[in-house]
Amino acid sequence: MLLKHTPEKITERKALVINPAKTCQPIGAMYAALGINSCLPHSHGSQGCCSYHRSTLTRHYKEPVMAATSSFTEGSSVFGGQSNLIQAFNNIFTVYEPEVIAVHTTCLSETIGDDVNQIAKKALDDGKIPDGKYIIHCSTPSYVGSHVTGFANMCNGMVNCLSERTGTKNDLLNIIPGYVEPSDMEEIKRIVDALGVKYIMFPDTSGILNGPQTGKFSMYPKGGVTAADLKKTGDSMGTLALGKTASSLAAKTLDTKFKVPCEIVDLPIGLSATDKFIDTLRKIVGTSVPDSITNERGQLVDIITDMQQYFYGKKVAVFGDPDQVIALTSFLVDLDMCPIHIVTGTPDKKFEKTIKELTKDVPHEVNVKAKGDTFLLHQWIKNNPVDLLIGNTYGKYIARDEDIPFLRFGFPIIDRIGHSYFPTVGYKGAMHLLVKIVDLLLTRMDRDAKEESFELVY
Ligand code: SF4
Repeated sequence: MLLKHTPEKITERKALVINPAKTCQPIGAMYAALGINSCLPHSHGSQGCCSYHRSTLTRHYKEPVMAATSSFTEGSSVFGGQSNLIQAFNNIFTVYEPEVIAVHTTCLSETIGDDVNQIAKKALDDGKIPDGKYIIHCSTPSYVGSHVTGFANMCNGMVNCLSERTGTKNDLLNIIPGYVEPSDMEEIKRIVDALGVKYIMFPDTSGILNGPQTGKFSMYPKGGVTAADLKKTGDSMGTLALGKTASSLAAKTLDTKFKVPCEIVDLPIGLSATDKFIDTLRKIVGTSVPDSITNERGQLVDIITDMQQYFYGKKVAVFGDPDQVIALTSFLVDLDMCPIHIVTGTPDKKFEKTIKELTKDVPHEVNVKAKGDTFLLHQWIKNNPVDLLIGNTYGKYIARDEDIPFLRFGFPIIDRIGHSYFPTVGYKGAMHLLVKIVDLLLTRMDRDAKEESFELVY
């Protein structure tokens, strides 16, 4: 029993969080920055923060994640980190030659009040930024928000620091894919290409954090949105933002600053959310859905129909990032499964209301909490057991203690592979998810079956 001290009795807690279902803001900011071509993320704070962010991303993607740090000492912690950051710009552009440096702050630099906008402006005014090179930045103190809001803030930093409006509209659609895997970004591009839509997707970590083994180290792998394309986003015909928490901030800034209208939809995870994504895309650009995509939808519906009896009525606990959990809950309801315990660690005012609405026909009491933790989730499970647990790697302790089939989904997954290579968005991604869910449920049935009811065929 790894979590033997988790009591069944639930006590009201206000200030204390135990085993949070989230991680720190700069990790999301660093992940978003890696989705820019030839960009070096820079952590404005101590070396320890930067090491933690890099190691979490490296463990999840099994790829070396490059980033720089302002390396705060006791002196900079007291007097501010301006000189460290300006020195860092000089060193990084000279030694590592990125096109873009993406600076995010940390708890320490925010607490002492460093103004990165002013520091970047000073560096530019003093001629410390070479021609054709860019600094983008965002504020990511980790005592608020989560890795998802950090991602949102860095996407917003891309718009604030790079987007331009020339006055002449282009025929491109901005797509903000949300906090999803590189494989998901690849799949979103495949779907958008299939509909014949011209677009700029930012950020885009496909090819960067799921690239092939070439035998050679590349500081800046091919892939990612270019700074030149990011500049054009202010002239685009529209923006489609996927996932409200991760993508709506940048989409709304493009709308208010550059009059680029935006549509915000859920992440296209599962049947209904993918339908909505494709329908919105189709309407924005006035195109029709190709047979290849309709065919994929039909295949997904076929799998659901074939395996429906194994999904029906199964109780599920889900935890993770709000955009992913909302879309996933909707998918579980489509499958006639019963999501009954649902937690996100990210603060999100509308999360609980949205989940309650999605699960209003579930024939059980549904527990839902934003800014929650996996300690509470475990207590809920003890009081009302489930047939399946879905969440990031940290769920394995609950799954082991309560003997529940466990689907790894979300961020971080540090004890398995595949998430960076196989998508879970779109119809194909939903098929992939379904196969994993069915496999877990039937493997459990096989394990628990008496000899006389041990089936060869399902
Ligand atoms: S929580 Fe704050 S201090 Fe800790 S690693 Fe994240 S940014 Fe650094």
